[in-house]
Amino acid sequence: MGEARVHARVQGAVQGVGFRPFIYRIARKHQLTGHVMNVPDGVILEAEGQKTSLDAFLLDLEQEKPPLSLIDQIEVQWINPVDSTLFEIRHSEGAGDPAALIMADVATCADCLQDIHNPKDRRYRYPFTNCTNCGPRFTILHRLPYDRMNTTMRGFAMCPECQREYNDPGDRRFHAQPTACPACGPQLALWDAEGREQAMRDEALLGAAQSIREGRIVAVKGLGGFHLVVDARNEEAIRRLRTHKHREEKPFALMYPTLEQVRMDVEISELEQRLLQSPECPIVLMHRKAGGISDAVAPECPRLGVMLPYTPLHHLLLEALGFPIVATSGNLSEEPICTNERDALDRLHGIAEIFLVHNRPIARHVDDSIVQVAAGREMVLRRSRGYAPLPVKLPPTPEPLAAFGAHLKNTVAIAKNSNAFLSQHIGDLETPRAFDAFLEAAQALETLYDARPIRAVCDLHPDYLASKHARGLGVPVTEVQHHYAHVLACMAEHGLTGPVLGVAWDGTGFGPDGTIWGGEFLRATPVEYERVAWLRTFHLPGGDAAVKEPRRSALGILYAIDGDAAFDRKDLPPLTAFSETERKTIKRMLARNLNSPETSSAGRLFDAVAALVGLHPRTRFEGQAAMALEYAAHRSTVSTPIANMKLTPSKKGITADWEPMIRAIITAKQSGTPIDNIAAGFHAALAHGIVDVAKHIGLKDIVLSGGCFQNTLLTEWTIQQLRENGFTPHWHHRIPPNDGGIALGQVFYGTQHIID
Ligand code: ZN
Ligand code: ZN
Ligand code: FE
Repeated sequence: MGEARVHARVQGAVQGVGFRPFIYRIARKHQLTGHVMNVPDGVILEAEGQKTSLDAFLLDLEQEKPPLSLIDQIEVQWINPVDSTLFEIRHSEGAGDPAALIMADVATCADCLQDIHNPKDRRYRYPFTNCTNCGPRFTILHRLPYDRMNTTMRGFAMCPECQREYNDPGDRRFHAQPTACPACGPQLALWDAEGREQAMRDEALLGAAQSIREGRIVAVKGLGGFHLVVDARNEEAIRRLRTHKHREEKPFALMYPTLEQVRMDVEISELEQRLLQSPECPIVLMHRKAGGISDAVAPECPRLGVMLPYTPLHHLLLEALGFPIVATSGNLSEEPICTNERDALDRLHGIAEIFLVHNRPIARHVDDSIVQVAAGREMVLRRSRGYAPLPVKLPPTPEPLAAFGAHLKNTVAIAKNSNAFLSQHIGDLETPRAFDAFLEAAQALETLYDARPIRAVCDLHPDYLASKHARGLGVPVTEVQHHYAHVLACMAEHGLTGPVLGVAWDGTGFGPDGTIWGGEFLRATPVEYERVAWLRTFHLPGGDAAVKEPRRSALGILYAIDGDAAFDRKDLPPLTAFSETERKTIKRMLARNLNSPETSSAGRLFDAVAALVGLHPRTRFEGQAAMALEYAAHRSTVSTPIANMKLTPSKKGITADWEPMIRAIITAKQSGTPIDNIAAGFHAALAHGIVDVAKHIGLKDIVLSGGCFQNTLLTEWTIQQLRENGFTPHWHHRIPPNDGGIALGQVFYGTQHIID
């Protein structure tokens, strides 16, 4: 009879991460008997033996836990010994375990890398090698529980060797659902553009490598979808890819064979290196070195988006090449990424010349995630592979809720119990394909988490497709103002209950007063908000057309401060960027207030200033002008405001007026001040302006959210200024500051407004 026995319930991300074999190992190490099993909300174990051994066991449990597991809570009870004789792993209890957390996909671990490089190993050069510590998860899962039969591996029966490993608690592949080997698992094939097979297995991989070397555009089926791949050193191939993909200037992401090679082309900080090599393995935006990779990869952009190989397939391909590749999503601009090889042949027809495919189906599209370092912390800009669908903790909700996000950079979310599950990046809901992907992602969250939403939460906007969808579901709908949702997303991420001063700056969002918001200061709690300050408004000639033409925002701003006289300043870049006729039309539009919505948008203010100093009067992709302004500011050593914003309090709230800044910018531009210094002075003025508003409002916690806070300089200077003035700033780390976080803010609001 053992001296003592414990019963422990472990909750968190403890399934599908090698947790039970780990328990088995430490129980044996301490000579304990008992059992461990999966239950719906985690793992239950009982262990019996010497009291001191049990204490040591419990210590190991917390300190040595498997790298991918996350323990939320351990409840330990001492119970009577029952004289068990061995330690066993028992089968799961109950049919499904919908409360268990679904793991995100995990980059290949060091052990699996060794396997594929060891000529004596049976997985030598096998591109689908994985184990309990790594491999596909979310991209292969159809439904819970996480068993092979519920994944896209169901069609592959394990060979006796794989089965033996799968059943052996001492093996790294014990219960590794996607485990496979060359004898029993998925295989590669190389197809021409008509889908005719050219080669199989390793030959297919080497054939694809040869095509890339020859300068061809190769479509590669990876983990969460297709990449379009070309040799990153081949400018002609890159140009061809740009033409075919209708992506003229937007930077391409790169995949490098090794960290050492990345280091030759970009400056890598310690944190950036950690992110590059993390299990999430995202695209990391980093500053490029002069004389490195071709400018065609990211024209006029001082940063490069770089990732390392994250599946054995990518490792083997990049090793065969020995040089970096462009690895951009396999889609037409703005459509969701292709996941199916037959579909890819059709959709990527005329773009890709050859296709490296395989027969492991992809359950859902999952793009590469994008992160950057801001203020010394990770900041996720696109949250997808490696991050989705891991939950964010929320206060408990008695009923499941679904939220449907914004129109651009859409994601959807579900709240259940005390978790919010945010979907992978879906994208801009501009095409029927994107809308289909939206419907699929929303349905998938419901199915996976067995959550039938009792209520839907959506943006206030009358015309967003996502909101219309929510209103058509036949369940009660709660609407949340866009910028309030931004602030709530950041509050949810940090577990804040407020009240906080939320600074929500972005391109556009529907304001309840009929104007377009985008430069907001909100006094917010999870229950309600009040708009306490805003950037001075101006009229945007042409409405949505202004998004692609910063010169329109500039004219709107000039008209706001000078009226008709603005059109006499023909020396200014935004005016010279228009023809005489265009100027006349715009003047008339502004004077008669035709198709010129009023906005407080900070994003459009950035555009206006970019156009005023002569950067990008027109843009090729969203945010291009604002980014150019940010990069210009980075190059400057100036850190003082070019002028201060003027705060005008009224009964309704404070107007933060940019007029003094704009006048100072015009003067500086006319007197020949370098653009870099003007840009830096503008950033500094905004950071100071935020602090001035914060001082007026008097709340200590300041939340920074919205697309403008993707700008690292604005974010860092604002944080620094706020801290120096005694405030506590909060900004985004694992949830995007852009509209990718809106659905999280929406469900958070929903959980606070349960109607019975
Ligand atoms: Zn592994
Ligand atoms: Zn096998
Ligand atoms: Fe937004």
